[in-house]
Amino acid sequence: MKAFEFRNPTRLIFGKGQLELLKREVPKYGKRVLLVYGGGSIKRSGLYDQVIGLLRESDAEVTELPGVEPNPRLSTVHKGVELCKTNHIELILAVGGGSVIDCVKAIAAGAKYDGDMWDFVERKAAPQDALPFGTVLTMAATGSEMNSGSVITNEATQEKMGWGSPLTYPAFSILDPTFTFTLPKDQTVYGMVDMMSHVLEHYFHLETNTPVQLGWCETVLRTVIDTAPKLVEDLENYELREAIMYCGTMALNGFLNMGLTGDWATHNIEHAVSAVYDIPHGGGLAIIFPNWMKHNLHVKPERFKRLAVNVFNVNPEGKSDEQVGEEGIQALRDFWSSIGAPSRLADYDIGDKDIELMADKAMRFGPFGGFNKLHREDVVAIYKASL
Ligand code: NAP
Ligand code: FE
Repeated sequence: MKAFEFRNPTRLIFGKGQLELLKREVPKYGKRVLLVYGGGSIKRSGLYDQVIGLLRESDAEVTELPGVEPNPRLSTVHKGVELCKTNHIELILAVGGGSVIDCVKAIAAGAKYDGDMWDFVERKAAPQDALPFGTVLTMAATGSEMNSGSVITNEATQEKMGWGSPLTYPAFSILDPTFTFTLPKDQTVYGMVDMMSHVLEHYFHLETNTPVQLGWCETVLRTVIDTAPKLVEDLENYELREAIMYCGTMALNGFLNMGLTGDWATHNIEHAVSAVYDIPHGGGLAIIFPNWMKHNLHVKPERFKRLAVNVFNVNPEGKSDEQVGEEGIQALRDFWSSIGAPSRLADYDIGDKDIELMADKAMRFGPFGGFNKLHREDVVAIYKASL
């Protein structure tokens, strides 16, 4: 393991009926609340009315920012920053999926900065302060409800990049699995692909003496694999939604990867695709990850073998580590296809025309990947294999 320090300050509030605790949490931060949400799912589900009712009972003065896009945009962040500054907002409340939460992180830091928040994304400046914010999660996927990361799309320059700060952990996050009942099948699948991808990004690391981390990762992966086929047939099943919601948070709140760098190349390669084509993040990952794995199998075949045997029950007898690893990669492809995830860029009508452009965007900060450093030609090869 690498030397590490661990701290996660988010108060995680999990389970049926926990929304009521908004009345306890909100007044801790003040009265003036900016309520941020997406394109309307919370109005259709009735969650909006519940949240507004509880905010009223907390004597909050509510300003609203609706309409956060999937793959949240810098222009929406700017609107939120403006609202915070003009209304002297004391707490931001994100109600939605990862996009709403990521947007709120950017607003929270932008509201305490004189320049353009995009400076943080470009590493030209680091946040020195941020407004506190809480979340009510409606989609199990990103782990953004309990981490400090955020991914923002600059639509003017077609860039989509991650950033984060120790100041951008949610102060509290309320996770009631019933709020995910209305999530349609396709988004449910994208969310499960995303959380599995987060675990796989941790799993492919070069540090040694990490049996606990590897075992925990395998447990989360096996749980998603056991649960997903049942959930896609039974979207309002509480226990299945609960298991998946817990997996999504645990996959990226820092617990599984203490002392590890992980890889994160696949996320970078996918962000460049969704920057240009605005496709769902989880859909892009389902296409890219198996091809990243195939490209990097040679780096440490025994890790791929371990995944194949421990997670996908591949029989290793009489086979080389590479062969077992390849069977594991195929099993992952088959699993994702079986629950309805895409497997080729062609599934989103993406051809080879923009491969060079996407590779330029992926290479923005130079070679990347903790398990194997990828250069431009590697990225192009992975895109070509994904066509
Ligand atoms: P999302 O973009 O937040 O939401 C996707 C869609 O699902 C939206 O159209 C949303 O509709 C809908 N939706 C959400 N909850 C719903 C519900 N309960 N019922 C019905 N519809 C619902 O999806 P996400 O996968 O959570 O977030 C994706 C973004 O997060 C990407 O930009 C990705 O790059 C980023 N990301 C961040 C991290 C991180 O750690 N911060 C990690 C991985 C990915 P409405 O808009 O109408 O609500
Ligand atoms: Fe992700």
